[in-house]
Amino acid sequence: MGEVVLQVRALDRVVVVLTGVGVHAFTRRRIGPRVNPRTGTRPGRGRRVALAAERRGLHDAFMSTALVVGGGPNGLAAAAVLASAGVDVTLLEAADAVGGGTRSWAGIVPGLLHDHCSAIHPMAVGSPLFARLRLGEHGLRWRRAEVDCAHPLDDGTAGVLLTDVGRTAAGLGRDARAWRWLFDRPSRGYDTLADDVLGPLLRIPRHPLRLARFGAPTVLPAAVLARGFREERTRALFAGVAAHAFRPLTEPLSSAVGLGILTAGHRHGWAVAEGGSGAIARALLAALEKHGGRVVTGVAVRSPTDLPPADVTLLDLAPTAAADVLGDRLPARVARAYRRFRRGPGAFKVDLAVAGGVPWTAEAARRAATVHLGGPLHEVAATERAVVAGRMPDRPFVLVGQQYLADPGRSAGDVHPVWAYAHVPHAYDGDATEAILRQLERFAPGTRDRVVGMRVTRPADFAAGNANFAGGDILTGAKDVRQLVLGPRTTLSPYDTGVPGVFLCSAATPPGPGAHGMCGAHAAARALAHLRIRP
Ligand SMILES: Cc1cc2nc3c(=O)[nH]c(=O)nc-3n(C[C@H](O)[C@H](O)[C@H](O)COP(=O)(O)OP(=O)(O)OC[C@H]3O[C@@H](n4cnc5c(N)ncnc54)[C@H](O)[C@@H]3O)c2cc1C
Repeated sequence: MGEVVLQVRALDRVVVVLTGVGVHAFTRRRIGPRVNPRTGTRPGRGRRVALAAERRGLHDAFMSTALVVGGGPNGLAAAAVLASAGVDVTLLEAADAVGGGTRSWAGIVPGLLHDHCSAIHPMAVGSPLFARLRLGEHGLRWRRAEVDCAHPLDDGTAGVLLTDVGRTAAGLGRDARAWRWLFDRPSRGYDTLADDVLGPLLRIPRHPLRLARFGAPTVLPAAVLARGFREERTRALFAGVAAHAFRPLTEPLSSAVGLGILTAGHRHGWAVAEGGSGAIARALLAALEKHGGRVVTGVAVRSPTDLPPADVTLLDLAPTAAADVLGDRLPARVARAYRRFRRGPGAFKVDLAVAGGVPWTAEAARRAATVHLGGPLHEVAATERAVVAGRMPDRPFVLVGQQYLADPGRSAGDVHPVWAYAHVPHAYDGDATEAILRQLERFAPGTRDRVVGMRVTRPADFAAGNANFAGGDILTGAKDVRQLVLGPRTTLSPYDTGVPGVFLCSAATPPGPGAHGMCGAHAAARALAHLRIRP
């Protein structure tokens, strides 16, 4: 700070400084005078240099501070938003690197690139936050395969999803009109709606009429909506996407997640990040560091004594972990709600190195970034009901990622990385590897013979690598009606913990799972409001 400062007073957001050259009043966001308040003139060049140094010192002294715990996409997003608003941000991450569910790793076979968790990003491509943070300038490039998603059936046919609504509908026979009705207008208006769709459900929307048109079918159980289609492949295609919610398809609102993904996908495609999903985390980190944010890795925050002081604190944690971290500071009613937070089923994952790729019977699946293995509607419905009830099905629902089709740099010659996980019961401790390979063989006979390497990630491994995925629950909480609508507790502000200045920003809060960063963005907006800083 300049040696001429005689006295400093902080009056809420205004800082008054008495210096050798006069009295200056600064806001906490913009510290330093552009015009000399005494003379009304701009200072000369030499004085400007001195004032700039003084301003930097004052800025350091009066900047609001934020602590973010957890560096998944939501923690990074929250940190980047706060830093870009002029807050001094420190992010603490338990693992050796930030990224959480958006990390990639190199090779079962040298040269292959695999995604640990998130792989396909229909919701992230159109994330209003990613646009605001200009992640493209930080190296994030989206790539798309020819086919977004294929859902093969035993007779060799498949439900085929393309980004274009009309071309998708044309392949769905008697359901063409219904598909267009459901997705044509909503997907064309998706960008206007994205802030509403990717926000808390309980609030006054920016575009109520459009949202009502989009939202009306979401109240229906997915099985009811799917049965409205006449072709088996359309029913299966819709059921497979709805199953991303890990809920019984007969439950009210169980079509909401599927409709959201399909609408976003028809606008932006089921894109993958060039160079692996880790590129999303790298871009968010670059946005944070551009604004002076700091990251410290290898630091787990588990109890109140682990928590350094800050003006605002954002927790990219599951509610139960947040309750541990906040201890007695948490109001009793919030602590009860966080402790009762319900977990969802688990994921059991195999990463494969496949020579020549998977030999799908259905031709469209050979061109698809995502393939859903679950057979017809009734089978998908039965498997989802079983895993939620804690039973392991013989033929689980399996999601297969062939990201290399969109991003060929992930392969080594003709050996390709294939990402696959099955829905299994919460904390399932059996081995689902065989069940996954059987589902692959069912729709692509000969796959086993092409597998030249494999790595298995069990529910317990997901939990050990990231406490947010306890029991293999990769969605950070069951998306039942209550938690889907309200988040972790019954409140209109699901990001508030009830401790002043402390906010929850993980995928346990609306809009929920996915690498879109919007939970972090909404929580950061609450934190900025608390600091009375306009974003
Ligand atoms: C197998 C799998 C497949 C998926 N597929 C997709 C997909 O295709 N598309 C998609 O959009 N999403 C997908 N997801 C979901 C997506 O990855 C998550 O929804 C998203 O990562 C949630 O982000 P987050 O920031 O809330 O939390 P997380 O990504 O879970 O990050 C939390 C971070 O906090 C850290 N942390 C935890 N506890 C502490 C502590 N006590 N102290 C300090 N740090 C801590 C963790 O190490 C982690 O880095 C998938 C997830 C998995 C596991």
